[in-house]
Amino acid sequence: MSDSEKKVEKPTTTASNSSSSDEEEDKDPTMDVIRRFFANTLNLGGSTDAKADLKVEKVIPDLSFEGFSEHWREHGFRKIVTMVGAGISTSAGIPDFRSPGSGLYSNLKKYKLPHPTAIFDLDYFEKNPAPFFALAKELYPGSFIPTPAHYFVRLLHDKGLLQRHYTQNIDTLDRLTGLPEEKIIEAHGSFHTNHCIKCRKEYDMAWMKAEIFADRLPRCKHCKGVVKPDIVFFGENLPEKFYTSPDEDFQDCDLLIIMGTSLEVQPFASLVQRPGPRCLRLLINRDAVGQASFVPWMDPHERSLLFDRPNNTRDVAYLSDCDAGVLALAKALGWEDELQQLITSEKEKLNAGQESDQQDKEKPHSDPVDKASGSEAKKDASL
Ligand SMILES: [Zn+2]
Repeated sequence: MSDSEKKVEKPTTTASNSSSSDEEEDKDPTMDVIRRFFANTLNLGGSTDAKADLKVEKVIPDLSFEGFSEHWREHGFRKIVTMVGAGISTSAGIPDFRSPGSGLYSNLKKYKLPHPTAIFDLDYFEKNPAPFFALAKELYPGSFIPTPAHYFVRLLHDKGLLQRHYTQNIDTLDRLTGLPEEKIIEAHGSFHTNHCIKCRKEYDMAWMKAEIFADRLPRCKHCKGVVKPDIVFFGENLPEKFYTSPDEDFQDCDLLIIMGTSLEVQPFASLVQRPGPRCLRLLINRDAVGQASFVPWMDPHERSLLFDRPNNTRDVAYLSDCDAGVLALAKALGWEDELQQLITSEKEKLNAGQESDQQDKEKPHSDPVDKASGSEAKKDASL
């Protein structure tokens, strides 16, 4: 009802410039409501007038990727939040280790896990921590280099646009880009800090790394309890910041960028529902995830992603892998060179750090980033 009132109001603001006879014909409130009902509910475009009416409500006129990029170029954004999942790290060579059937789980067969996810189960870990540390050795941060998608987030920060970066990943690649700690919320924790599971004494990353790579079970020096990286296991709470930061982060946020996540793991996925109705939401992902249920009362406030639904007012999808997506966006914004320079200079720093660090393994996973900093054809081929 209030919508039909708005529609009637709108022409009056421009009445001095348009002929009143046109308005009377086009803006019969009853017809308007009926048109909108069919257009919204049954996904019938109806007349071109009905389509035009729907577009009035959109935050930007064109919700295609091109339309979105144009809006960004012309109007910019002021307060951007990013939320990312495993998809932004796959091109770094980090396997999707949570999926049963992946190579990593096969490698863990010798440990006879009761079920694949037992490796992240706190009760199981307390009884048998060895499988977790075997996996940790394979996944340990320092063996991998951030991807172009990670560096795109860093670039947003450098430009003063990034409010906060929420990540589901425990690989610490977000930190490795040089993004300041206070900008990052590692929703599922990370390897950055470690605690004894008995006395809670904290141990740093270097100590834990030495233990893991020496194939020793990390034991607390004080109480002999097992020391566990602060990644969130099943049955553990998420870090407090995950709960306390969104109120401020999403207030007046004008763009949420969602990358490389299935939006299936809660409570992380619920972040998409936090920004207000005027905040645009850009998904860069292989699949159009996070869409509203077709059962309207499951999503009464229409906070899920809508994309090509007729009632979409603010959701934009770029369906590709994350690196191709950010490179397309950087190109559209004229930031391509800046992004490549950032990747090159940061990668040099990381390589220098790793070489002086220690004997370290052969670093086979730096390849995807090498490719990504080359031509676009190579970027695509690497994925
Ligand atoms: Zn202890």
